[in-house]
Amino acid sequence: MAGLEPRGLALGETEYTTMDAPTLRVTIWNEYLHEKTNEAVKLIYPNGIHGALADALTSQLGADVTVRTATLEQPEHGLTEAVLAETDVLTWWGHKGHQRVSDEVVDRVQASVLEGMGLIALHSSHVSKIFTRLMGTSGGLKWRDVGEREIIWCVKPGHPITDGLGDHFELAHAEMYGEMFDVPQPDELVFISWFEGGEVFRSGCCWRRGKGTVFYFRPGHETYPIFYDANVQRVIANAVRYVAAPTGCPSITSNCQNTEPLRPIASA
Ligand code: ZN
Repeated sequence: MAGLEPRGLALGETEYTTMDAPTLRVTIWNEYLHEKTNEAVKLIYPNGIHGALADALTSQLGADVTVRTATLEQPEHGLTEAVLAETDVLTWWGHKGHQRVSDEVVDRVQASVLEGMGLIALHSSHVSKIFTRLMGTSGGLKWRDVGEREIIWCVKPGHPITDGLGDHFELAHAEMYGEMFDVPQPDELVFISWFEGGEVFRSGCCWRRGKGTVFYFRPGHETYPIFYDANVQRVIANAVRYVAAPTGCPSITSNCQNTEPLRPIASA
């Protein structure tokens, strides 16, 4: 996030100018299962989906980010207290291994979000433990995988996540996700998808949780090279900047106390 630095001018006047933004620390989490067992997926993502996303963010954001990756089969799924303490934004891609994610790690990630870590949940992470925990709903939706065309419409032009995009972009082949998407009303609805078969879907949504921001972004099925798409990469890079943790705010998760009144209460 950009900081402000006073640039003194005439007596009594102060103008603020933007300092160099500190480097954002991004951890890319991937269950990394399909890529090791499915030849078709391995061909598309030879270094794993996490590898493709790491390359994308590095090329999109350059020196503005430091990127590390973590996967399901690492100890503590690669998401130790130390890693999360050094993470401003966590991206999450899971599909068939959702139930293998330990509740202890989910608790830890949830606590980090409430304290301000940004979370970007991608595609099939709509039913991951961490996403449904943060939403409080099932995350359920309709789906169909026949490789149909998808048009992703930007319905919040000017939103930072849409920076550099036009009013829509297309994916030639995608898995369909359709409404009803069982999530709480988004705080910000950024994208809506239309599919060749007729369904629509809220493809880009933001929610505030504690001090943190969660962004769900729909594209990304493992059998399509969607994470190499320039527009998809742009959205994820924009989202990294957008959900990055604010700094300097007091904790709000400890705001639970039996407190003395500020003023006398007549009935007490
Ligand atoms: Zn999928």
